Amino acid sequence: MTKEILKCSNCDLYTLKAVCSKCGEKTLSTKPAKFSPLDKQGKFRRIYKKKYKGL
Ligand SMILES: [Zn+2]
Repeated sequence: MTKEILKCSNCDLYTLKAVCSKCGEKTLSTKPAKFSPLDKQGKFRRIYKKKYKGL
């Protein structure tokens, strides 16, 4: 079983369980394409650069 992050759309709760521990609603997997490591790193780097100019 993979440890993918699941989300309860009912109470916006992130969990690793297939069922929300809060309301018992079936959780949905978040879209992995959104968390591309390359893109995330590039984006973070750009934000970092912007935040700390001259570093
Ligand atoms: Zn819930």
